[in-house]
Amino acid sequence: MPTPSPVSRPDAIDCAIIGAGPAGLTAAIYLARFHLSIRMFDCGSSRAAMIPRTHNHAGYPGGIAGTDLLARMHEQARDFGATCEAATVTAIERAGDDFVVRTDGATLAARTVLLATGVVNHRPRGLDDATHDAALARGLLRYCPICDGYEVTDRRVGVIGTSRHGMREALFLRGYTADVTLIAPDSDHDLDDSCLDALDRAGVQRVDGPCGDYRIAGDRFVIRTAAGEMAFDSVYPALGSRIRSELAVAAGARASEDGCLEVDDHQRTSVPGLFAAGDVVKGLDQISHAMGEAGVAATTIRNLLDERRPIRR
Ligand SMILES: Cc1cc2nc3c(=O)[nH]c(=O)nc-3n(C[C@H](O)[C@H](O)[C@H](O)COP(=O)(O)OP(=O)(O)OC[C@H]3O[C@@H](n4cnc5c(N)ncnc54)[C@H](O)[C@@H]3O)c2cc1C
Repeated sequence: MPTPSPVSRPDAIDCAIIGAGPAGLTAAIYLARFHLSIRMFDCGSSRAAMIPRTHNHAGYPGGIAGTDLLARMHEQARDFGATCEAATVTAIERAGDDFVVRTDGATLAARTVLLATGVVNHRPRGLDDATHDAALARGLLRYCPICDGYEVTDRRVGVIGTSRHGMREALFLRGYTADVTLIAPDSDHDLDDSCLDALDRAGVQRVDGPCGDYRIAGDRFVIRTAAGEMAFDSVYPALGSRIRSELAVAAGARASEDGCLEVDDHQRTSVPGLFAAGDVVKGLDQISHAMGEAGVAATTIRNLLDERRPIRR
């Protein structure tokens, strides 16, 4: 006896994309070009929009601002009929083989869902938004050594963080400059002997916290530490991030302890029909990786839907 094909609600769209960063937008371009019906929602907080100018994203000699890259991707998606709706998705619920997706203003049925909601970096406590944004725009504050460590080659760099995570970030940056200081965010450092040994061998300075009173002075970012005020060419907070996977986890998807969604080689979460791509998935938090995962997810979604009901036949 053949397995009956899953029956979708007649009004169900093919895929709801949650998040319009590099991952969600790449998926939108692919899915629209597969002749699938999609809706894409975004609440306006892409990490890519925080990038003053990326120099490691291939294909842009001279670099490109994150907002410009996103604008180009939106334009490309629109060329194929994929537009983005400004809305926060508040729930994804399973409904038979479909999903019900709730936004702050509407409810829709979708045969598949792609979660591309990214992560949010923890900021140094007490750093006001205006100083944060001004420092970020000028490269005095940075969040991604893989992305822009090159730009701090031989400069004076501070890393706000401690424990193994802070140590790793400081050691990574040591590959660019000999002048790296690891600053404990709250009080004393929390570093075991192996961390202390690794930092000593690399010549990374250590300063206790609490740190605060952040300000821009000329071309430097100034921080008050337990050792007094210190000025740096660039400071990297290494304070971890919040993984925006709650919607998928609430729908039953498995995630790691820190909240990153678990996916297989085809970007399938543990919930059938629910896919994930980009920073929200465990892996390299980079634009190229987000785009690659989204291409894989979109193609798998296309093939799954075609199996259920052949496309355009
Ligand atoms: C300062 C900085 C510099 C960086 N520089 C580089 C660089 O040079 N090169 C590089 O490769 N990478 C860089 N990165 C990393 C890069 O920005 C991320 O890897 C990339 O943006 C990940 O794409 P994404 O689509 O997974 O997530 P995001 O770009 O964060 O997009 C996620 C989207 O989901 C939306 N969203 C979240 N929750 C909801 C919800 N409930 N409902 C609706 N929408 C929702 C958000 O509004 C957001 O637009 C940098 C990051 C930072 C912070």
